Amino acid sequence: MDKNIITVEDPVEYRLRLIRQVQVNARAGVTFANGLRAILRQDPDIIMIGEIRDVETAEIAVQAALTGHFVFSTLHTNDAAGAIPRLIHMGVEPFLVASALEGIMAQRLARKICPQCRESYDPEPLLLENFHLDPAAGIKFWRGRGCEHCRGTGYKGRVAVMELVAMTPALRRLTLSKAPGDEIKEQARAEGAVFMEDDALEKVLAGVTSIEEMSRITGIKVDLAPAAPAEPVETGEPLLAPAAFEESPADERAVLAEKDVEEYQEKITHWLSR
Ligand SMILES: [Zn+2]
Repeated sequence: MDKNIITVEDPVEYRLRLIRQVQVNARAGVTFANGLRAILRQDPDIIMIGEIRDVETAEIAVQAALTGHFVFSTLHTNDAAGAIPRLIHMGVEPFLVASALEGIMAQRLARKICPQCRESYDPEPLLLENFHLDPAAGIKFWRGRGCEHCRGTGYKGRVAVMELVAMTPALRRLTLSKAPGDEIKEQARAEGAVFMEDDALEKVLAGVTSIEEMSRITGIKVDLAPAAPAEPVETGEPLLAPAAFEESPADERAVLAEKDVEEYQEKITHWLSR
């Protein structure tokens, strides 16, 4: 392996060979933030930060990314687009988020329909219309009847439902202008990003999971009422509300302060060489 990979995790869930994993230990003074500082002095190629919970960790992650390290981390937000306002709300400067962030992936786990008792059925035409599907196209949905294999639940195993937002010049401009998550999402959709509801629907149509599971993880209601916009989902995870930002014309605010970034990089280089 010619890449130096280091992680800082709380807790280390899987021990991996060939990767150095640092366990957060607040009592011994090892936090995400100072664990990261120690790691950066070893100049790794790839860094994985278990979770960004505070501005200090967020800032070091950004510093690491801006000084040529490939940084992965996790955040609790409602969706991928929400990560941008979340980082800014935590206190990271918008120009740093715009410069350091390359992409955001969000995932939730959906239960898979049990393969032993899986059966198809004809969904209500109104339900199909809600998802912009043609009721005359003979589309089937799937469900588990419940059997011994799945202890009567109709589900067996789990599958990840994902969305990926890759940063683009337009998204960087929206980041600089502190645009809200839904504006970022709209732009990402216009540029071809696939969202969780798209991925989930694909898995429903393929019979991997049920429309009920899709509803549970995406928050899209599946009753026969007219199509409702997606609402934040209650998953039991500590989801954080998206930050609110003041309104002002995007272009006015969207000036990528390259000088700011350069100054910042110099500062970090200096800081790392101490
Ligand atoms: Zn079953």
